[in-house]
Amino acid sequence: MPPYEPVIGLEVHAQLLTRSKAFCGCSTAFGAPPNSQVCPVCLGLPGSLPVLNGAAVTLAVRAALALGCLIRPRSVFARKHYFYADQPKGYQISQYDEPFSFGGHLDIAGKRVRITRVHMEEDAGKTIHASGGDSVVDLNRSGVPLIEIVGEPDLRSGAEAAEYLRALRELLLFIGVNDGHLEEGSFRCDANVSIRPVGETKLGTRVELKNINSIRFVEKAIEHEVLRQIDERGAGRALHQETRGWDEKTGTTYSLRSKEEAQDYRYFPDPDLPPLLLPLAFVEEVRAGTSELPAAKRARFVTVLGLSPASAETLTQHPHIAAFFEEAATLSGEPQKAASFVQTEVLRDATTHGPEVDLPITAAQVAGILALVKAETISGKQAKEVYARLRDDARAGEPLASPDALVQRLGMAQLSGDDAIESVCSAVVLANPRQAAAFRAGKEALLGFFVGLVMKETRGSANPAKVNATLRRLLGSS
Ligand SMILES: [Zn+2]
Repeated sequence: MPPYEPVIGLEVHAQLLTRSKAFCGCSTAFGAPPNSQVCPVCLGLPGSLPVLNGAAVTLAVRAALALGCLIRPRSVFARKHYFYADQPKGYQISQYDEPFSFGGHLDIAGKRVRITRVHMEEDAGKTIHASGGDSVVDLNRSGVPLIEIVGEPDLRSGAEAAEYLRALRELLLFIGVNDGHLEEGSFRCDANVSIRPVGETKLGTRVELKNINSIRFVEKAIEHEVLRQIDERGAGRALHQETRGWDEKTGTTYSLRSKEEAQDYRYFPDPDLPPLLLPLAFVEEVRAGTSELPAAKRARFVTVLGLSPASAETLTQHPHIAAFFEEAATLSGEPQKAASFVQTEVLRDATTHGPEVDLPITAAQVAGILALVKAETISGKQAKEVYARLRDDARAGEPLASPDALVQRLGMAQLSGDDAIESVCSAVVLANPRQAAAFRAGKEALLGFFVGLVMKETRGSANPAKVNATLRRLLGSS
């Protein structure tokens, strides 16, 4: 049996973060009662006319530019015809042979994945097959603006596909185009999977995997589908072009229907919508207004702020976390200390909901804590306590306190006066003459014993460097 290689191309549908739909003024808010966000246009009633949402165009162009695509100055909306209960017009407004952008790429570890095109389209409604055989339709999603990002078949494994999806989701989240909510259907992926003998350049018969709502499941479904196709070929059976679903319970793919060809959709230009004109000046304005991309931000954190690549990776996992860290770094003037504190303390208590992140304290409070440590007012250990206290206060709805005021109120200031430290240290040394003699006789490890006693005595508030120096002097060869 010849060894086969998998060939995978992904089509991603991402919802554009607009308040209203693509061609009418209905709200796009998630979670409203069924059919409460509809009007004659998105219900597909005869005589209603679509009007293009300008904000959706800006977001679509921003995404295409971030993916390195070229923008067509003139593109066309087309009708893609098919009948389904959640598509009352009988067609979906999309773009076909003249999409607004083409020819981009997305880089994943060590690999450039080519992007065929990014085009605009509207979403369909949702059919819900209820128990007892009834089916109901919710048209709140009907007309929600989407971009479809069509990738070239450059991926060779389920793991690569998952990495591509994570990178794409992150990119769209960072530039404010999409909220990355797979479970709410605002970021969805279809995977075209085929196999071919190694060395063959023609594409094999492809199977489309549809409606998979997690990146991990996409990875598993692709890996399973590749093995299924190799088994079929190995058994001498032909593969059919079809659409298959993923059953998470059984860990297998199953046939949904034979796949339509483009000509089955009877595409033609939508006569209700004029061509979409994107003048160069508009495109450049969008380009200039696009925030820094995640890869560029990571590189800057490493080269300019001196973070390790691992820290840069952690702190750019979400645009709000990156912004929080940058603010703390700027306010404190200590990017590396800010990075370490945000990673070890703040991120443990942070929770992410799509485009939003709940951070337990403010960046200014982080900078305030770092300033107290730098001034040796508190120790590193006390910094963690101050943080925990500020976090608990914020959660309890207490007014925002400055770390400085908190430290004063709690009397937490570290014992750093030389006389105070000296008197505690000498009391400890005098109380433990046996250990002091052993240390002087060369048992260096006993220094830790004395430091521990001093810290216990001062309830952790003594400056450790000063305690060490004082003890060494008192226990010195004298
Ligand atoms: Zn509407």
